[in-house]
Amino acid sequence: MKIIDAHIHFSNICSFHETAEKQSFVSYSKEGLLKEFEESDVILGIGMGLTETKGIGFPDPEAKTPMGLDLDPTLPKNIVYSVGINPYTVNDSSLISLEEELKKDKVVGIKIYLGYYPFYAYDEIYHPIYVLAEKYNLPVVFHTGDTYSERGLLKYSHPLTLDEVAVRYRNVRFIMAHFGDPWVLTGAEVVYKNSNMYADLSGLIVGTEKELKNYSEGRFLDHLRHALVYCDHYDRLLFGTDWPLAPIKPYIEFIQQLIPKKFHEDVFFNNALRVFPKIRKWIL
Ligand SMILES: [Zn+2]
Repeated sequence: MKIIDAHIHFSNICSFHETAEKQSFVSYSKEGLLKEFEESDVILGIGMGLTETKGIGFPDPEAKTPMGLDLDPTLPKNIVYSVGINPYTVNDSSLISLEEELKKDKVVGIKIYLGYYPFYAYDEIYHPIYVLAEKYNLPVVFHTGDTYSERGLLKYSHPLTLDEVAVRYRNVRFIMAHFGDPWVLTGAEVVYKNSNMYADLSGLIVGTEKELKNYSEGRFLDHLRHALVYCDHYDRLLFGTDWPLAPIKPYIEFIQQLIPKKFHEDVFFNNALRVFPKIRKWIL
């Protein structure tokens, strides 16, 4: 089965290097990523645009909008990306650069980091971003749920806060990254209720192959199993890993166990094509 990984990272972020290298379960490099893709039949990865200026770490109030992928000087052919928005650096001139960026073939979406930056999805600061998303027919991906930094603020990343933008911007497709985990039942309701809301299943467990196996057993994932069944919209769920925070092949197996087999083609491939129309060019 051919797979699209709709959520990876490919940026020079200290905490990602630390997670990947100190525990040494992935090689956080271009070579490391391409090797894991090849071993797992992943034919395309969608990177989340993100940068940090030296020493501050992420979230970084000074990072320039739009944020791209800076792990390697060259981008592999099978990596495209969603440009990252730092609300502190959204202004007239950065909006012009952003619009230019959105015209590039490799740019297939826009990423907003709720919780990392203390603004709600429906804050007016993001209004011009949604207008551009509609103009260029690009989806907006929101970080939701737990933040991978103690400096994050969870009230901004709660999935219920996405309902308001889904209603106000009916012509924009939104993706709730991580399904709002751990508030996945709320996330499920927001997806169920809004036909323009999708969710990706990345980053639900961060760690090694062994940790993925351990957490899959017992009650740890009961909330997620409940939410998937309640949501009942396998046409709007997307596979993603959050690499390098989990190794790719074991993460595929982990998600395969959670999704009924008849929906695998949709969740692992077809849905991403519908949500990110520009990726067709890179795979078909
Ligand atoms: Zn991520």
